[in-house]
Amino acid sequence: MIPAQFDYLTPKTIDEAVALLAEHPDDAKILAGGHSLIPAMKLRLATPQILIDIGRINDLSYIREEGGQIRIGAMTTHYNLEASDRLREICPLLPECAAQIGDVQVRNKGTIGGSIAHSDPAGDWPAAVIALGAEMVAVSAAGERVIKADDFFVDMLTTALDPGEILREIRISTPTGRFGHSYMKVPQPASGFAVVGVAVNLARDQNGACQSASIGITGVASKAYRASEVEKALVGSALDEQAIASASAHATDGVSVNGDLYASDAYRRHLAQVYTRRAVEAAASRAKG
Ligand SMILES: Cc1cc2nc3c(=O)[nH]c(=O)nc-3n(C[C@H](O)[C@H](O)[C@H](O)COP(=O)(O)OP(=O)(O)OC[C@H]3O[C@@H](n4cnc5c(N)ncnc54)[C@H](O)[C@@H]3O)c2cc1C
Repeated sequence: MIPAQFDYLTPKTIDEAVALLAEHPDDAKILAGGHSLIPAMKLRLATPQILIDIGRINDLSYIREEGGQIRIGAMTTHYNLEASDRLREICPLLPECAAQIGDVQVRNKGTIGGSIAHSDPAGDWPAAVIALGAEMVAVSAAGERVIKADDFFVDMLTTALDPGEILREIRISTPTGRFGHSYMKVPQPASGFAVVGVAVNLARDQNGACQSASIGITGVASKAYRASEVEKALVGSALDEQAIASASAHATDGVSVNGDLYASDAYRRHLAQVYTRRAVEAAASRAKG
């Protein structure tokens, strides 16, 4: 289908984009990689009257290290993150997650900011940024504010961003100590989106026991969530087979699990438990060094 008619604006700076958004709070939408918004417009599920394309703003695509943090510009593509040797060294969850998104074309055009701002219940990045305890930097005519990943994803396709806000940057504390990461997913065979996706960020103490565990799960519910009960069960454990298996049984505790034509709620719950176990095992073995 062909989208409804719209005006197309191309700000050159973030200030210009913010001013345009403030001028048209009800009719405008930000356009990033377009790989979620344009399909929705073609199906007329979204009919914005104005598109503000932030793709021509130069300083929105970057991966920087600053003050003990990794800072990622919102327009950084999935491919930029997948291809970063430095990230593979200091925060491997990011390239591992990026590499599992869609196909080459999607990864070359889609952006981390667009994916996070979209909050697709089967999107991969929300699980990863929850596991990494990321902070989202939002900018509007009123200034800048920082929103924690745990507070950012409100519901299906709904985030804590206000209508006049643009997601500018994602900040992640650079992992330290004996940490291990893993992202594992069951992709929907037609789209590549996560039927279940599990992101794990854990660390061992000097005796090898689990010092911290942070786990984000996507694909299972109306939004990505933190698997708090799994985390609680893992911390202090020896991260052996038995401890990981019994902790992973809590992967969907307190969550209303989605079912659809491809995967029933019972099957998704089962997959969430199995993939949590596998992802924790992988992260635990990487945290040995
Ligand atoms: C065939 C196909 C397969 C895919 N497979 C996967 C997959 O396996 N896993 C996965 O996670 N995703 C998948 N996607 C989605 C893809 O990752 C998108 O790129 C992503 O969800 C949206 O990013 P975008 O840059 O394209 O954003 P856009 O489509 O441009 O925007 C998406 C939404 O976010 C808003 N927005 C964008 N950027 C900002 C910003 N900086 N601040 C505020 N609001 C903003 C827009 O207004 C819009 O509402 C797939 C898409 C396609 C077409």
